[in-house]
Amino acid sequence: MIDLHTHSTVSDGSEAPERVPELAAAAGCSAVALTDHDSFGGLEAAARRAEALGVRLVPGCEVSCRSPAGSMHVLVYFADPAGSPLADELARLRQDRVARNKALAERLATLGVHVDYGSLVESAGGESGLGRPHFAQALVSSGAASSIEDAFDRWLAAGRPAYVPKARVTPEEVAQLARASGGVAVLAHPLTLSLEPPALDSLVGELAAAGFSGIEAIYGRYTPEEREGLALMAARHGLVATGGSDFHGTFKPGLSVGTGTGDLDVPDSILDELESRTA
Ligand code: AMP
Ligand code: ZN
Ligand code: FE
Ligand code: FE
Repeated sequence: MIDLHTHSTVSDGSEAPERVPELAAAAGCSAVALTDHDSFGGLEAAARRAEALGVRLVPGCEVSCRSPAGSMHVLVYFADPAGSPLADELARLRQDRVARNKALAERLATLGVHVDYGSLVESAGGESGLGRPHFAQALVSSGAASSIEDAFDRWLAAGRPAYVPKARVTPEEVAQLARASGGVAVLAHPLTLSLEPPALDSLVGELAAAGFSGIEAIYGRYTPEEREGLALMAARHGLVATGGSDFHGTFKPGLSVGTGTGDLDVPDSILDELESRTA
């Protein structure tokens, strides 16, 4: 059993990077990928712990992209985490996020809503981990919004008064950067795109042509029927049907490393298939 999709405190997970291989070992996984959002920051610590436990740590990340189909998440595996084109681009994206966050806090202040930027950064465990969900939580706490959803609808969503855009890459760019860094790109949780099956199928065809290596078919929250449909879609386009839990610790309750909601069991052979797609 393997798990190719997990998050740690380096992005929006509740568990330290070292903890992820520990949980993987306890679940009986032979390999686990740490795929924090837009960062390779947890890989070194996770790899050290994984080695001590005899679990294979697959270096990864999950990049938020803009596409005509809306926001799209792309998983990257095996890319060089230091000094590679992808690592440089992720550093640029994090810098831009910090600038966006400061501008967002200032915008809210101009609108008469004050958030304590310092304690927001603290709650996010670092300035580059801070995102709109943290702002939304602060707006709820201060009474400026009644719920997270209301905070987005009222202030933070695109087109709302406190919206400040930030730099985003396209899926095609991520696929190129992944390749140039020795890695492979995989479409994460394809059903999040909320496309009808024919539209998703043609999009997956475009991604395959753009250099993608797989789609995440065996996803923690998907039903057996959904997983089967996505695996067939992957096969139609010559892509690997990958899988993972999308573990976020206590921040997404009910999902465990390795087993997902309980029924996940991604075969080891998928990692070999994926690795054979690296240059
Ligand atoms: P950021 O990357 O900081 O701009 O924040 C993006 C994150 O905000 C997304 O990954 C979602 O988790 C969350 N988000 C975006 N729009 C909404 C919404 N309308 N309601 C709730 N959460 C949202
Ligand atoms: Zn996440
Ligand atoms: Fe995601
Ligand atoms: Fe994720």
